[in-house]
Amino acid sequence: MNLNQDLQPPRNSDNGEISKPKLGKWLVLLGMVVAIGVGILLLGGGASSILEAREKPVVIAELKMLPDPVCEELKNVVPSGSSITALLNDHFTNQEIHNLNLRSKSIFPFTKICAGHPYRIISYDGEFNSFIYEIDADEQLVISRDVEQIYMERQPIVYDVQAATVQGTITTSLFDAVNEIGEQPNLAYALADIFAWDVNFILDIRKGDSFLAIVEKRFREGQFAGYGKILAAEFVNQKKVFKAIRFKDGDQVVSFYNEKGENVRKAFLKAPLAFKRISSGFTMNRFHPILKSWKAHPAIDYVAPVGTPIKTVGDGRIYRIGFTKGNGNFIEVRHSNGYASLYLHMKGFARGLKKGSRVNQGQVIGYLGGTGMATGPHLCFRMRLNGAPVNPTKLKIPAAKSVSKEHLTEYQRIAAPFLAKLEETRSNTKIAKLTVPEASVVSKGLNR
Ligand SMILES: [Zn+2]
Repeated sequence: MNLNQDLQPPRNSDNGEISKPKLGKWLVLLGMVVAIGVGILLLGGGASSILEAREKPVVIAELKMLPDPVCEELKNVVPSGSSITALLNDHFTNQEIHNLNLRSKSIFPFTKICAGHPYRIISYDGEFNSFIYEIDADEQLVISRDVEQIYMERQPIVYDVQAATVQGTITTSLFDAVNEIGEQPNLAYALADIFAWDVNFILDIRKGDSFLAIVEKRFREGQFAGYGKILAAEFVNQKKVFKAIRFKDGDQVVSFYNEKGENVRKAFLKAPLAFKRISSGFTMNRFHPILKSWKAHPAIDYVAPVGTPIKTVGDGRIYRIGFTKGNGNFIEVRHSNGYASLYLHMKGFARGLKKGSRVNQGQVIGYLGGTGMATGPHLCFRMRLNGAPVNPTKLKIPAAKSVSKEHLTEYQRIAAPFLAKLEETRSNTKIAKLTVPEASVVSKGLNR
């Protein structure tokens, strides 16, 4: 998972539920208003009744509310195989749909619709008002009409965002600990992602390890709707404390830095893909199966299914991208400090990449294949330092860039309150541990 990607739990889908919450209320109100109106008419004539009517301004206010239209909302998820056109069919003419389709290309092409995403159709007094399709967790497509024209736009989904402090202690695994405090697995993934560079969450975890995070929680209509950003976090692994504060250093991608402003990431990923096995390791002397001769193999061959996404191991720029008879489709990325990484035999490249393109660590640059001189589908991955081959699996990977001098003051200003909050929460927990008798601790997680 990408560090700067926001997290969403699986969404609830309200299948075909038509909610008419207001209809009943309006009928009752209508009845009341009619009854009161009749009362006024019956009493009408005498001066005293006029006075009485004047003393009941509430009635006038209720009368004014009467013309409000009845709102109906159809909530559903896009059925598989369906199209926006099909969903809009009842509300627009064929010509209008055709025009909408053309207009949509620059806003949100209708072909990009995904089955399972929620949509709503809102109507007033049975008249279509708007169609709202949720593009992702952040944006929705809104098509609405009034008497004069049809509108189409992308709108941000508005959440009520609250920063929450969550903490837990591990007895078995991070996932269990996150679950125990009533949080969602996505939070465990995100925390593991942040600290993955320092902690191996499979091998290094011990009972008593703990975590603490300040995380945004998003709410929509009062309901929890997933996590936003993790703003700061702390992980204690075998008594060693790791801290991470979210920060965007100028035009760099968002990263996490420790209290000194050092990047918690390393400059390179351990591997550029999720692989099944290594078919050929790094050697300077190997018998080449196709060339039938002894040849150095200063590379690691990773085996994975054709089409497996290949990620650049570090931030950098594309120095070479293209095809040669031997390499097949290949990319060379140049990183800072004299490092370069090469990715050979790819099936194809990610869209939009060209020589000079800037790429960020973890960004997909291509897909595994068997092009060029390859006996079967695999990724031949190479790294170089100042032009000389280095073994990627033996490399002592340097840390990614620290906060720049230019933005260090800004970082310290942003980090200070988070570090204080982490400190405060941790020491409060310790005090609570000391003063609360063991027997009275009933709730798990947060109070421990
Ligand atoms: Zn190879």
